[in-house]
Amino acid sequence: KQKEAQKKLKNIKLMVTDKDEDVFFDDVAGIGDAKVELMEVVDFFRKPELFRASGSRIPRGVLLCGPPGTGKTLLARAVAGEAGATFIALNASEFVEMFVGVGASRVRDLFAQARAAAPAIIFIDEIDSVGRIRGGAKGNDERDQTLNQMLSEMDGFDNEAQVSQMLSEMDGFDNEAQVIVMGATNRRDILDPALVRPGRFDRIVHVPLPDYNGRIEILNVHLRDRSHSADIDMHELSFATNGYSGAQLANLVNMAATVASQRESEQICQQDIEKALEFERLGPERPPFSEAARRRIAAMEAATALTCTLLPAIEPVALVTIVPREKHPLGQTVVKANEARELTGLWTRRYLEQQLLTTLAGRAAEELIYGLDDMSTMHQMRITDARRIVQKLVVSAAMNENPAIGPRTISVPRRVGSLLMQAVPRYLPTELHTVADQEMERLIEEAYDEVKAMLQRNRTALDILIEGLVEKSTLDGDEVRRVVEQHASAEDLQQRA
Ligand code: ADP
Repeated sequence: KQKEAQKKLKNIKLMVTDKDEDVFFDDVAGIGDAKVELMEVVDFFRKPELFRASGSRIPRGVLLCGPPGTGKTLLARAVAGEAGATFIALNASEFVEMFVGVGASRVRDLFAQARAAAPAIIFIDEIDSVGRIRGGAKGNDERDQTLNQMLSEMDGFDNEAQVSQMLSEMDGFDNEAQVIVMGATNRRDILDPALVRPGRFDRIVHVPLPDYNGRIEILNVHLRDRSHSADIDMHELSFATNGYSGAQLANLVNMAATVASQRESEQICQQDIEKALEFERLGPERPPFSEAARRRIAAMEAATALTCTLLPAIEPVALVTIVPREKHPLGQTVVKANEARELTGLWTRRYLEQQLLTTLAGRAAEELIYGLDDMSTMHQMRITDARRIVQKLVVSAAMNENPAIGPRTISVPRRVGSLLMQAVPRYLPTELHTVADQEMERLIEEAYDEVKAMLQRNRTALDILIEGLVEKSTLDGDEVRRVVEQHASAEDLQQRA
């Protein structure tokens, strides 16, 4: 009977998943307590009589709230999989569209069919787009009507529950329609309050972005059915993917599998993952530059990678590239993720000072190689970065040694909502601002001289790295370190050790 009803649903072009596409709780990972909370729904489907005997309130609507790609759809499917329920999915705009012109009767149909295919879950994605607070600036009759009908269908369960309760008392067993509506949204704030009233979407389950452990669990889910080598460093990978959603992590593993197949291997290895990450981070490639421009960009990146490698506080270089990418149209030096800093968001003065040197390295190299008159605008972004670093050192974080400034903050960042706005000056003597300005200029000038001297001392290593980049476009961290160890000046190598 359930089969028949499922067929009917498919006929009206609803997405109904087949048994062989079932997913289970094991397929969803890194979402905190959400699964535990949804066990209630599974229990209700599996053992309604026990559920009712315990006196629990019967679930009708469950709202899954969380950022895009965190696995809300997957989770709803897993509930259906665990419970052996029919899974009917539609997204809210389809929902509205489907009923345009034909009015509310189709909604009744949908629910009637779902009841016939019960136990069933009706999953409505992006429910905020139907369940938005009504009577807004642009009233939308069609949408309001659809919403009203849906709400009354959900209320309708109540009556039905009463009737079926009576029947089940008579028959001695329970036959209540087992249909649960699950909605997903990332905009809980704009939902119509009528939607979340008791008896409707009264179960709210939060589906958060995964944390460090969650990311490892999700990656494992997606690597589980794929051949992969044991050398994949999950710890590093989890740090490198801070802020990724489950969907982005799944995409990363897919991309790594593509990289593996491009080198005609069926096994995903660490390098494939790194390549995929690089692609994620830098975006797709752009058309190549002329030979002369490539050489110039190579000078900037070689100098950056060289100084990153020589300066002990900077993380090891992961890769350096002059392949123009969507997100970095010139080139880029990528250093490995630093766990401590990513966890705390704290920066030391030593780190910032050395980072300042690396941001100025590109300009220094261009000046050394091309001379002042033939310098380009290529490094202007990095000069802006340098300015930000000295501002942090002198003005906002007060790490300056000049006794006139000392531990005073000269300006403080202003918070507007969640945005950190530009620093606003506090009321301090004007002389102090002048001193701070001079301090910042001094830091930049000294750092510039220092990094220029460093590049001059290590000109051989610099030239080799430039040639390497011109020839191969991308060098990995080990290649850079090999050149540095063989050709850097004794003084710098000693400093680094
Ligand atoms: P949402 O509905 O929250 O936007 P989806 O469920 O559509 O996210 O996620 C898309 C895909 O990303 C899933 O099919 C799955 O492959 C992967 N995914 C997302 N979240 C998770 C998770 N928590 N665990 C495992 N895989 C996930």
